[in-house]
Amino acid sequence: MNCLFCQIVNKTIKATICFEDEQVLAFEDINPQAPHHVLIVPKEHISTLNELNESNKTIIGHMTWVGSQLAKSLEIEEKGYRLVMNCNKGAGQTVFHLHMHLLGGRTLHWPPG
Ligand code: 5GP
Ligand code: ZN
Repeated sequence: MNCLFCQIVNKTIKATICFEDEQVLAFEDINPQAPHHVLIVPKEHISTLNELNESNKTIIGHMTWVGSQLAKSLEIEEKGYRLVMNCNKGAGQTVFHLHMHLLGGRTLHWPPG
């Protein structure tokens, strides 16, 4: 499949990997929006949040868990960090393989815009 994040998961495209287990891969964003910007993606190809169903929905809990653990290992958990997912173009999604952004290391403003 011609999916960028599937190719990163399959290691045919290089990325700086932060964490991996049987369900997810986490790697540094190529265009970081904060001092720490990591993407957490399921190994299974799921295009958007709209494609979640009864059988795959628990991946979101696992991605959130991995994000919170990475925040601790980056020592940004006390100051604060953001876990965010964009769904479809109008919300800023540009890669159509589900991913969670972990952003931290600076003050994050709200609303994100
Ligand atoms: P989205 O805008 O879909 O929520 O987030 C996609 C993210 O993927 C962006 O932050 C973008 O910088 C990142 N990205 C796009 N292409 C690559 C790539 O080839 N490698 C890595 N590591 N990140 C990428
Ligand atoms: Zn994919």
